[in-house]
Amino acid sequence: MTQYHNLINGQWTPGASCAPNTNPSDLSDVIGEYAQGDAADVQAAVAAATAAFPVWSTSGIQARHDALDRIGNEILARKEELGDLLAREEGKTRPEAIGEVARAGQIFKFFAGECLRLGGEALPSVRPGIGVEITREPIGVVGLITPWNFPIAIPAWKIAPALAFGNCVVLKPADLVPASAWALAEIIHKSGIPAGVFNLVMGPGRVIGEALVNHPGVAAISFTGSVGVGRGIAEACVKSGKKVQLEMGGKNPQVVLDDADLPQAVELSAQSGFYSTGQRCTASSRLIVTDRIYPAFIAALQERMARIKVGDARTAGTDMGPVVSQAQLEQDLCYVEIAKAEGAQLAAGGSRVACHTGSGKAGFFMAPTLFVDSTPAMRINREEVFGPVASVIRVKDYEEALHVANDTPFGLSAGIATTSLKLATHFKRHSQAGMVMVNLPTAGVDYHVPFGGRKGSSYGPREQGRYAQEFYTTVKTAYTLA
Ligand code: NDP
Repeated sequence: MTQYHNLINGQWTPGASCAPNTNPSDLSDVIGEYAQGDAADVQAAVAAATAAFPVWSTSGIQARHDALDRIGNEILARKEELGDLLAREEGKTRPEAIGEVARAGQIFKFFAGECLRLGGEALPSVRPGIGVEITREPIGVVGLITPWNFPIAIPAWKIAPALAFGNCVVLKPADLVPASAWALAEIIHKSGIPAGVFNLVMGPGRVIGEALVNHPGVAAISFTGSVGVGRGIAEACVKSGKKVQLEMGGKNPQVVLDDADLPQAVELSAQSGFYSTGQRCTASSRLIVTDRIYPAFIAALQERMARIKVGDARTAGTDMGPVVSQAQLEQDLCYVEIAKAEGAQLAAGGSRVACHTGSGKAGFFMAPTLFVDSTPAMRINREEVFGPVASVIRVKDYEEALHVANDTPFGLSAGIATTSLKLATHFKRHSQAGMVMVNLPTAGVDYHVPFGGRKGSSYGPREQGRYAQEFYTTVKTAYTLA
């Protein structure tokens, strides 16, 4: 079995131990053995990043542009192979995985351009004869902690801006999906950037993540993951004076109004509820449907869900791959029982299923699941399940739909299906979410514009696009006597 090591100071370094990385579509398939680092590896990685910072932060925008552009090109050239690896370790379908890899490549190319576009300001002083310049500088060593559901795109959208603006990086990927992060690290390593600028330390969050968060040499932490872990990280960062950025969960509403285009509303609800096995922080898990369209919408959605082929992520024809792990599958099935006990009616799915495509392999397959007659107070409508489970709330009109849509501790993404320009415009203005979609799925975003939410979903500056510079740079104000 091939062993994959951590990347510390430009060297592939064995961890204290190794752990197998298993394919959730086929539990007999072990992808490789990946390093399990320890606190000493974090120490070494932060030391290497600290030593590399003076060189990288002053390396010049052309050198940084060229390195990021090379990384982006290599990812795009290998998107089929890397997409296959991603589908194999995470379980999203091969086309979805190839799309995610392509996005990672595009992100590096976008931030290659951003190296050249980082601007400042020149202002007159309120005092005569003095000029004021406002510039942006790198912040130092940044620790990046990423989740399992986008094993290459989320590392990419944190690494690329960090490097573009002159920072050095220690990446701790999710322990469930180290292969995509390792492949990305190898591409970055081969791009010719100096040793220590980018480091990869794999291993458990409680060990590697905590050591990074508590390390005094780390200037900032960017985290994507669950609310519980995120809040703990924020507290630790505030105590030690680190800059922190959190992207966490969602309980995203999809509103469907009486005047919606029915086939379109059904398709976008099915797409954002169940594709990628519902394991997207932007998935629609609450379908809020007005009275008159309700019966037709439910019937059409049930019919559409019955056509979703669940199976091996890498087999052509699969629409929905497996749940990522045994633990996640148990959590999903547990929420099915909770919803039933609270009185929601199961209208589709609700159980583990056999693999429909890919020769009956043993994996963590679950049927796309729909509850109807659910109410906003039920746990199924308040807590993130993070699986292929959606629930429908029936409302009388747009005003009630908007109220229910906003009645959640989260605020990541929200969608409305309507042909009314007036109501779509009102929803865009009054939705308490960071991202709003009109007649589009709540999941599926562009890489060149800000990503992030409100309320319990996010904390700190937005990720991606031009807005990424808010987190990955610090502002300096300089005064000069003419
Ligand atoms: P977790 O919060 O469990 O883990 C996220 C990362 O944090 C992993 O790398 C994990 O390591 C690490 N970690 C775990 N414990 C600690 C700790 N004590 N200190 C530091 N780091 C730690 O989330 P999941 O990976 O399970 O991802 C699913 C969650 O992520 C969902 O709730 C989902 O909504 C959210 N998410 C949010 C997104 C957004 O942008 N808003 C996007 C994608 C996902 P390890 O893997 O070793 O446990």
